[in-house]
Amino acid sequence: MSRQDILNLFDQTGIMPTPQRLEVADVLLCKPQHLSADQIIEQLRSMGSRVSKATVYNTLNLFGERGIVREVMVDPIRKFYDSTTRPHHHFYNEDTGELWDIPDDQVTFLALPPLPEGTERTSVELLIRVRNGRLAVC
Ligand SMILES: [Zn+2]
Repeated sequence: MSRQDILNLFDQTGIMPTPQRLEVADVLLCKPQHLSADQIIEQLRSMGSRVSKATVYNTLNLFGERGIVREVMVDPIRKFYDSTTRPHHHFYNEDTGELWDIPDDQVTFLALPPLPEGTERTSVELLIRVRNGRLAVC
């Protein structure tokens, strides 16, 4: 995503384009990817950025609220920010901490429970946890 695309996205979602927000967006939205806040901070530091950790966290929360990134919780302490916002699913490797996309059309749900009264479904997301194969050692 180019800088102009990012500025348009900020404009459409009512995000004020501060230099710090643009730096975070440049790192995360440059390609389809999943990054943790720490990975984003690491990349910013390696580029010489001095954006504070708190600003990065606040910016990511804002991006999540405005729907320009998707938050993917893999466990209660680990959250990824996904630059792909259309519906899709994920594989999560518990050994390596990597997250991969599963296209929406590769998953079919045969049955879903009735929704609680007075609610409507906003999304159904599948997270398939995997680990590296264990080879038996004799
Ligand atoms: Zn994804």
